Amino acid sequence: MDKIYDVIILGAGPGGLAAGLYSGRYRLSTLIIEKARDGGQIAITDEIENYPGQIVEGESGPSLIDRMTRQAARFGAERACDTIDRVELEGPVKKLYGKKDTYQCRALIIATGAYARPIGCRREGEFVGKGVSFCATCDANFFEDLEVFVVGGGDSAVEEAIYLTKFARKVTVIHRRNELRAAKSIQEKAFRNPKMNFMWDSVVEELHGDGILSGMTVRNVKTGELTRVDADPDDGMFGLFGFIGNVPRSELFEGLLDMEKGYIKTDEDMRTGISGVYAAGDVRVKSFRQVVTAASDGAIAAMQAEKYIAELDGHVY
Ligand code: NAP
Repeated sequence: MDKIYDVIILGAGPGGLAAGLYSGRYRLSTLIIEKARDGGQIAITDEIENYPGQIVEGESGPSLIDRMTRQAARFGAERACDTIDRVELEGPVKKLYGKKDTYQCRALIIATGAYARPIGCRREGEFVGKGVSFCATCDANFFEDLEVFVVGGGDSAVEEAIYLTKFARKVTVIHRRNELRAAKSIQEKAFRNPKMNFMWDSVVEELHGDGILSGMTVRNVKTGELTRVDADPDDGMFGLFGFIGNVPRSELFEGLLDMEKGYIKTDEDMRTGISGVYAAGDVRVKSFRQVVTAASDGAIAAMQAEKYIAELDGHVY
């Protein structure tokens, strides 16, 4: 592609879509590149309660993201579906080499987000999609009236465990400590739910089964005791959902941008160490990763990109 966009945004989660909205409203030529579906992690979130101004009770991730997508498009942000394999970030024109095309821009906003961290137990890979899942919204209905276990103790684990109680017969949270990290309001909901159970100070060591998950070994981290958990013989299987945090999607920028544990370092205006390159949302080093903070990052990144481009063009603020 010969065209040089003012702004390219990599990733169409809340951060990328907010950046697209702001950039489009500045009348900057804007392209959002996304390799899969819009929404990033919230595309697989069942319920969003804490996005300010949200009017629909029980709004889901996909419904919120659908409105964000349409809003960015309304202000002219174009879309491309491609996977970027290599980038050149230095200089006034940034280049992105994708599987389908090559893209050029003056300012780049990285909003590639993060993905679910694997549980980290033996034989996990064998059972992904065969009992092991990282998305309750996608897979909950496969576990109708079965037993389900959820690994983790943060907001995601507890919220998704509550959601799973709508389908499963019994939901047990396996947490490596004896208190949850999740927000108190979420904890209260969980403790009130009669289908919820907790296995404290525990981690999953190994999975068992013949083609389908039907057993696991759980280790008590305080006593070292190993417990074998087997599916009810009438069920023949159970579900195991992992929600133990996320891994940033930043491998494309390794060696090019400063990072901390894989998260891209920025200043508070989303600037990376390279002029005209910004990072927004879950992919960057920050304390809190919420839809609202990702959207805020995206807006700031686009405002900074606009300023940067205006300065390149000789406009003085
Ligand atoms: P998180 O807050 O980082 O929680 C991860 C949980 O997994 C923690 O309880 C942690 O245990 C546990 N864990 C981490 N590594 C583990 C391992 N190797 N083995 C076993 N357990 C492990 O992640 P999250 O819940 O995905 O949330 C990510 C961010 O999104 C957070 O900022 C969260 O507040 C936000 N979020 C917000 C909402 C909402 O507000 N509605 C919903 C979802 C997510 P420890 O507690 O012992 O560290």
